[in-house]
Amino acid sequence: MAYVITKLCVDCKDVACTQVCPVVCIYEYTGDDPTIPKSMLLIDPDECIDCNACVPECPVEAIFADTNVPEQYAHWTQINIDEAPNYPVISQKIPALHGPTCTGPEE
Ligand code: SF4
Repeated sequence: MAYVITKLCVDCKDVACTQVCPVVCIYEYTGDDPTIPKSMLLIDPDECIDCNACVPECPVEAIFADTNVPEQYAHWTQINIDEAPNYPVISQKIPALHGPTCTGPEE
């Protein structure tokens, strides 16, 4: 099992999750795939130790155990697997990236 960040994260970047992750396995997506929003974070499931520490820190409830991802966000499990290891890890609080609403996108 690992944890998955879904598109509810888009434009939030509160990054509180990154401050509690004991293995620093949360990454900032900076790629150019038009199907993946740039302004979000992803978890590398190979590094995640399933501690659950990030879940209560997320202000938009964007993080789920991979065994409990809502159906409408199910494809985000694979996106985290494929993309997270390719981008910069978030290891510091970055207040400037905090989104204006932090409510997540409409489905
Ligand atoms: Fe990091 Fe724990 Fe969240 Fe996995 S569950 S991303 S190890 S804080």
